[in-house]
Amino acid sequence: MDCMADFTSLEGYHARGASLAGEEFAPFALGSATSARFVSVGHGSEARDRRSSGIGLSRPCPDDREAGIWLHPREDERLVSLLSYKILDTAPESAYDSATRLAARACNAPAAMVSLVDRDRQWFKAVHGIQGLASEVDRSDSLCSDAVACESVLVVEDTLSVPRYARSALVAGAPGIRAYAGVPLIGRDALPLGTLCVVDWRTRSFSSSELEDLVALAHSVVTHLELRRVDSSLGRDSGGLLRDALDSIRLRTAIEMGEFVNHYQPIVDMGSGEVIALEALVRWRHPELGVIPPAFFLPAMERTGLMNALGLRVLADALDMAVGLRSVPGIGNAPKVAVNVSGTQLGSYGFSAAVAEELSRRHLTGGDLCIEVTESVPLLGNAVAAELEELRGIGVGVALDDYGTGNATAGQILELPLTTIKLDRSLVSAVTASERSKAIVVSTLRLAEQLDLEVSCEGIETSAQRDVLLAAGARLGQGWLFSMPVDRERTVGLLVRGEACG
Ligand code: C2E
Ligand code: MG
Ligand code: MG
Repeated sequence: MDCMADFTSLEGYHARGASLAGEEFAPFALGSATSARFVSVGHGSEARDRRSSGIGLSRPCPDDREAGIWLHPREDERLVSLLSYKILDTAPESAYDSATRLAARACNAPAAMVSLVDRDRQWFKAVHGIQGLASEVDRSDSLCSDAVACESVLVVEDTLSVPRYARSALVAGAPGIRAYAGVPLIGRDALPLGTLCVVDWRTRSFSSSELEDLVALAHSVVTHLELRRVDSSLGRDSGGLLRDALDSIRLRTAIEMGEFVNHYQPIVDMGSGEVIALEALVRWRHPELGVIPPAFFLPAMERTGLMNALGLRVLADALDMAVGLRSVPGIGNAPKVAVNVSGTQLGSYGFSAAVAEELSRRHLTGGDLCIEVTESVPLLGNAVAAELEELRGIGVGVALDDYGTGNATAGQILELPLTTIKLDRSLVSAVTASERSKAIVVSTLRLAEQLDLEVSCEGIETSAQRDVLLAAGARLGQGWLFSMPVDRERTVGLLVRGEACG
């Protein structure tokens, strides 16, 4: 029986779980909500069947004959994973409270919860909008338990129309849930721990943008869970270890000890599948915390004056990679490397000279390198613009990163000696859903063509996004559809096997 309960499994969301080995901090990076409309992976062969059968699948919802509790296929491992977070029965924490408040607001719903699904119970870490709810309910009363078991976003528009849910104490009694949307919280072991869910007291649907926001917030909940696990495994208060790690002496030592490594993400010609460039994205392989993404340490690098030292390291490693690829059998045209450069680096005396020196030391030319700058750069003044001119003068590509998110005016941007505009993921991920985003993309492509600039589209997660972008005339793309950022060895393997074609 098909009724009003949909399991909308998120292609990108689940794929991220499966890709943990590729990008070890995947829980921090769980992907964009836009994949919400793209289907559909469950488990095993059923997953494959459902994937091949199209978009927006609704799974027959359980009826009376299936009254028992659904269990995740790896339930025992799931429970072990859940316990490792040491979160059950802990006190409220503001991060989770904020997530529920924002989730309710984003979905225009009266109530939201973060809950963990334990062996026999659903335990609430944070509840917004429901007074007097017990701290846990029996698992047989839990809708979230099904979202966890199926590792899918679960949407129930009318709980009373589904016998399984109509029987739940949360539906039949207080608080009287009539509509539900829950996103599984998939942790570092690629196993679902609980959900972030919103509920309503009336029947209703949830728009795709509401579900997208819910998924995005679920990602931030997962980030907090991961930090908690790391700290609690070391007997620390949540957040404490990371704070200590960002101490300037520790950061400097980490640079010197080679704990910062580049991962690489291909930039692909979406027509031919050829890898045109590899973007270096720095990660900190912390001996205790594991792999930490840049958002967690770059601000501290800037604050402590270590950004230049780190940046030079990233550049040197990327150029070594460019040299190394030339001697790998099976790679035809070695791609160029792209390196992100902050305003601090650009503004530091002699930046372009240092780049020229690093290139010539390796017998590379400017054409082997592209640097990526952000929209804050035009606001930094003439000295920075002069550095960029110098780099262009020796043939280094200059890409404007995250285009579409900053405050720079078109005039300021056009002042810069650019070769490429990188369209930000926020625009790219919206092209399949929003005519406005598509219009911005199309007009940027036209503008770029007139100015003889390349356009590269960031954050492509689905083939539907790629197809819209290709049809709009875009050529270069980057994103999880092609490959996540992966370490040096995996990058080489991916190039040799030609696996980044999307
Ligand atoms: P960015 O240069 O815009 O890099 C793209 C970011 O998007 C990367 O995050 C990448 O992992 C992520 N990404 C790529 N494809 C997808 C996708 O399909 N979906 C989603 N949801 N995300 C995707 P990451 O590695 O965490 O880097 C974040 C930012 O940190 C970078 O943004 C860049 O501004 C900065 N950064 C990274 N490495 C360096 C560095 O060596 N130096 C400087 N100055 N900044 C760096
Ligand atoms: Mg970049
Ligand atoms: Mg970017």
